[in-house]
Amino acid sequence: MKNLLLALGALLLFSCQSSDKKESAAGGNQDAAFDAYKEHFVDALWKTYPEWASSVGYHNYDSMMTVNDEAYRKSELAFLDAQMDSLKKYDVAQLSSNNKTDYQLIENQLKSGIFSDEELHAEQWNPSIYNISQSSAEILAGNYDKLDNRVKNIYLKLRRAKDFYAAAKNNIKNPTLEHTALAIQQIEGSTSTFEVDLIDSIKKTSFSDAEKQAMIARANEAAAAMKDFAAWLKALKNDSPRSFRLGETLYKKKFEYDLQANSTSDQMFEKASKRKAEVQAEMLKISKELWPKYFDKKPMPATDLEIVKMMIDKLSEKHVARDSFQIAIERQIPTLIDFIKQKDLIYIDPSKPLVVRKEPAYMQGVAGASISAPGPYDKNGNTYYNVGTLANYTKDAAESYLREYNYYILQILNIHEAIPGHYTQLVYSNQSPSLIKSLFGNNAMIEGWAVYTERMMLENGYGGGTPEFWLMYYKWHLRSVCNTILDISVHTKEMKKEDAIKFLVNEAFQQQAEAENKWRRVSVTQVQLCCYFTGYSEIYDFREELKSKMGDKFNLKNFHEKFLSYGSAPVKDIKALMLEEMK
Ligand code: ZN
Ligand code: ZN
Repeated sequence: MKNLLLALGALLLFSCQSSDKKESAAGGNQDAAFDAYKEHFVDALWKTYPEWASSVGYHNYDSMMTVNDEAYRKSELAFLDAQMDSLKKYDVAQLSSNNKTDYQLIENQLKSGIFSDEELHAEQWNPSIYNISQSSAEILAGNYDKLDNRVKNIYLKLRRAKDFYAAAKNNIKNPTLEHTALAIQQIEGSTSTFEVDLIDSIKKTSFSDAEKQAMIARANEAAAAMKDFAAWLKALKNDSPRSFRLGETLYKKKFEYDLQANSTSDQMFEKASKRKAEVQAEMLKISKELWPKYFDKKPMPATDLEIVKMMIDKLSEKHVARDSFQIAIERQIPTLIDFIKQKDLIYIDPSKPLVVRKEPAYMQGVAGASISAPGPYDKNGNTYYNVGTLANYTKDAAESYLREYNYYILQILNIHEAIPGHYTQLVYSNQSPSLIKSLFGNNAMIEGWAVYTERMMLENGYGGGTPEFWLMYYKWHLRSVCNTILDISVHTKEMKKEDAIKFLVNEAFQQQAEAENKWRRVSVTQVQLCCYFTGYSEIYDFREELKSKMGDKFNLKNFHEKFLSYGSAPVKDIKALMLEEMK
């Protein structure tokens, strides 16, 4: 999301010369000067990226819409270059450890923005970045301000809807077929934000009838502009579409900026391949061990992969009933908290409860679970655990879904999404003193933490340490591992669809439908699928390194709390800071 928005940007040309003078004048006290600089930087950032500002809870620019035309891109580059120049005035070595990582995060963000503008050029080949509904839908769903004010801001924002799509048409050149199809699908699925939701909300405001009429007219114009763009995309003559594969050169750079890992994509590919073999060997061992318990004297199938697959299928039969999916999740939250307390794994702040709720309508009826956390500007807001409903599923589809999220996997999902995974990490992150770290949250660290906690909980005996639980854990874990192999293979090694599906089904024990979905995802994203395993392995390796260094002095709870206290910074930066403090 953040990177998409970076590729979009804002309206105002920004110059920070006045703040630059102050900084160089500050001379000796680098940290105080850098703190002041960060404030100026964030102000300028929000002027450049107003939609991003709205999405993290900064609402001064809710009425702005970024129109990605040439003038905007010039102003965006000017912003990025000016900030790069400002950064150069500070001597990193003299900054506090907190400011050091903030410096690195800002620098990476700026470099990544320049890379997007000058090399990646998603605005040319990815039509799906042109969707005006999301930001308005978020503002409409927010409760930070009166409905009248929120509706008014959307009304003002939408005055640029036509310009927005005129710029889009002008930018697009030989788009990929995959991103074109995605754009059309997403636009068709989201015009209701204006045609239905916004108009319903306008009717509930206290504006005069004439004002309401003008607002309704603009809502309809916005929906019409979206539909016109979708029709334009459908009719677009595109004889030589660009490949959705990013290619090695761009991929390696994007990997570096997006993940900020210690390893290159080549190294991660090696690492994931090795881990895949280890995990598969473990799974085979467990499956053979469990065989007599579940299949008695039935002979084992001929191949190793089939033995594992049959055992997984058998264990997947243990699942909750369709109508108790949400209640089962709700009941597990206190169980997880009790376990963590009992094993002394990490402090969980009881004043920030997690609210389990049915997925709100604007998130669409996709089953599954996700976390909605309060942003850095709204630290006291509720954290929601959104649970999708199976109401619209056919009987077969519901059964297949419940088998997938069976008794074991559902618990691992709760560990990952909620406690002590994403929810716990986000609570710590919002308490971290750095706005920069809350804003430029590193995805590899965030996903890596959630993936790490799955293993950590099992290592500490969660689920009774049974072979069944471990086997299902490995299946789940293999997904992160294979995501990495898949992403790198598809974008840099020309892996074909057919081979990708075979790989996921045969080597990662995925269902055909799941593998097909993963193919769709890898063909419209790049690097994102690598963040899970990359972050996980850096956290896990760091923990093991500390353990062997500290011996008896190593304390798991301290490690977890210390690790999370730096906010969502890249693992390599957290590691450097922790090691420095230990000296
Ligand atoms: Zn069943
Ligand atoms: Zn996650």
